[in-house]
Amino acid sequence: MIVIDPGHNGMNWAFPEEINQIVDIGTGTKACNTTGTTSYEGYAEPDFTWAVAQLVVERLEALGATVTLTRPDNDGWGPCITERAAIGNEFGRDAVVSIHADGGPDDGRGFHVIYPKVLPGYTDDIAAESQRLAEALHASYLDTGMPVADYRSGDGYSVRDDLGGLTLSDSPVVFLEAGNMRHATDIALLQDPTFQEKIADAIVAALVEFLGAA
Ligand code: ZN
Repeated sequence: MIVIDPGHNGMNWAFPEEINQIVDIGTGTKACNTTGTTSYEGYAEPDFTWAVAQLVVERLEALGATVTLTRPDNDGWGPCITERAAIGNEFGRDAVVSIHADGGPDDGRGFHVIYPKVLPGYTDDIAAESQRLAEALHASYLDTGMPVADYRSGDGYSVRDDLGGLTLSDSPVVFLEAGNMRHATDIALLQDPTFQEKIADAIVAALVEFLGAA
């Protein structure tokens, strides 16, 4: 059982009160959700995450996996990060992958993979497996040709304790920041349907590697 979380939602921007409601992520509080980032030409992160998620689901289902998305369409708001985590915990026992693209500096390129910091009582039971999934995704994503992020440290990895999708997860979980939507080269790739297929292939390859070795 795998959950694919297409980050944000296409109409979050139209529901500020709903997405700004404060939710409890265990280690603190956060807004329910955010609008995500947007390219300079107006390509929205939810459109990217939704497109890639469809390709990932198709591929996983073709392999016989049971896959659940955290939202049924790209035309509404939410769900809140707490609800996304709950969906992951209910339907994504084997793995949860949350798809994003970053809004980094104009001159910065590349991807990074986020996994949870060890937090006693929260992520201590899933942190090691999440790191293993992150390493599988880091390796497979390099095959797309996208470089690791050069505008941040960590060699394409980030360990976080402030994301509800990580802190509330009872399943191995990673976030993919697939590239920088503010960089001309990255956004051209992120919008390209052929490259989106490569991204989906990389996510599926990582899941196969991770689950095969489990
Ligand atoms: Zn995002």
